[in-house]
Amino acid sequence: MKYLVLFGPPGSGKGTQSENIIKKYGYGHISTGDVLRAEMANKTELGKTAKDYIEKGQLVPDSLIIDMLAKTLDGFKEANGIIFDGFPRTTAQAVALKEMLKARGADVTVMLNLIVEEQELITRLLKRGETSGRSDDNLETIQKRLDTYNSQTAPVIDFYEKEGKLANIKGVGTIDGIFALVCKEIDAK
Ligand code: AMP
Repeated sequence: MKYLVLFGPPGSGKGTQSENIIKKYGYGHISTGDVLRAEMANKTELGKTAKDYIEKGQLVPDSLIIDMLAKTLDGFKEANGIIFDGFPRTTAQAVALKEMLKARGADVTVMLNLIVEEQELITRLLKRGETSGRSDDNLETIQKRLDTYNSQTAPVIDFYEKEGKLANIKGVGTIDGIFALVCKEIDAK
């Protein structure tokens, strides 16, 4: 069973590449952003709390995310593999994930780090905002999300590098071309 961390700044193509991985490998998929948006749509307590953070381009507190992830992970006992999309986003989350997987006798297989430069991310996210209906795909929030990524999330790369799990992937080019690089890394593990 492979445990993939699909990583990169907002707009780097994590969602798109997750779809491709699901189609080809049949892995389970956990997107913490998708789970939070479902909670928001259902107007749960977690959804109401998360909304304030999401609309400010900030991270939802670790304790809430880690609880939520543990519950979601329990539903995936039978999958061949699991993709973590948009998680972990802090070093504390990476440590918590390691503990959760250790309890199952497992560990992260590889971190697929999609690299895209900032101006391209802004262009992509503004374009996505025209159709996504997401309240955080506007220029002001996009810029805050990129700041949050640089200050709180990018250090997670060092965590996985030290673990010997980091695979950097150029996230610019055609979707199929990028997916070929993603597959190469998955198949090598
Ligand atoms: P995403 O769909 O992955 O771009 O996530 C949208 C927003 O949800 C982020 O900007 C955060 O506010 C929140 N979020 C998603 N995943 C996490 C996470 N792992 N930790 C903290 N906040 C998160």
